[in-house]
Amino acid sequence: MSNPLTLHLEHHPLLILDGALATELEQRGCDLRDPLWSAKVLLENPVLIAEVHRDYLFAGADCLITASYQATVAGFMQRGLTPEAAREMLQRSVQLAVEARDTFWRDEANHPGRLRPLVAASIGPYGAFLANGSEYRGDYSLSTAELMDFHRPRLAALLEAGPDLLACETLPSLTEALALARLLTEFPSASAWISFSAYDDAHISHGERLADCAAELDAIPQVVAMGVNCTAPRHIPALIAAARTATGKPIVVYPNSGETYDAERRAWCGPATVDAFAQEARRWYDAGARLIGGCCRTTPAHIGQIAAWARRLQT
Ligand SMILES: [Zn+2]
Repeated sequence: MSNPLTLHLEHHPLLILDGALATELEQRGCDLRDPLWSAKVLLENPVLIAEVHRDYLFAGADCLITASYQATVAGFMQRGLTPEAAREMLQRSVQLAVEARDTFWRDEANHPGRLRPLVAASIGPYGAFLANGSEYRGDYSLSTAELMDFHRPRLAALLEAGPDLLACETLPSLTEALALARLLTEFPSASAWISFSAYDDAHISHGERLADCAAELDAIPQVVAMGVNCTAPRHIPALIAAARTATGKPIVVYPNSGETYDAERRAWCGPATVDAFAQEARRWYDAGARLIGGCCRTTPAHIGQIAAWARRLQT
């Protein structure tokens, strides 16, 4: 296994990730109220996904995350696809990001100050496939072996399409992270970052301490970074510090925008701004994070504002 992050982290102070895909797709008129969520657009309107990838590259992202978070063989089969067609749809998510990256990189005008961007194939938790809210609780009673069986076909299909690495993200529990880490050993040339959702300054969604998760993952060579995503920005500094007590691996953070969801009004509420997010991101860098981007409700503007300070660091 060669570590796909090494080149970037040797030459640049941090690797800038992209932001939300769903938010941008909704801006373009996609209705994502569907169990497949943004993966629905893979079926219906893949060109829009390519457009969002391109926007993030021009905003400054060094790494694209594919539209496969909620896409699974089982989910597509429930939609009437054959297993083979479902696998092709997963691979399309990687192809769209790879093509966007290659097109961007073919133009040498995009090279100054940059390295060839990476493509990370998204692996969401089992709960994202259930689409019943359990993705933020992790309270499904599957064994490690059952979780491995669930994740195996998607992981195999995505890897065949040639991403630079896997983004195992928004994981609610240590059990699911370790199931994915164990599954990785069946694909010895693959590497992944492992990222949890967290609900306070110290604990991931299912309740384990992030520091304990970091200690477990620290021993696994195919895990090339670990951290948190899909979490409120205010918890990020303490979570970075907690992870760093237990691992020397690069820390990845890509929290939500900082707006909060008001369930009663069924709407996202401020006061978070793009500038505030980018300023906080600078504090995550100072706290030791080395892969930084955005999750829900973040946009190319958020990533552009991170790039604005990050590119100055390296000159
Ligand atoms: Zn999120």
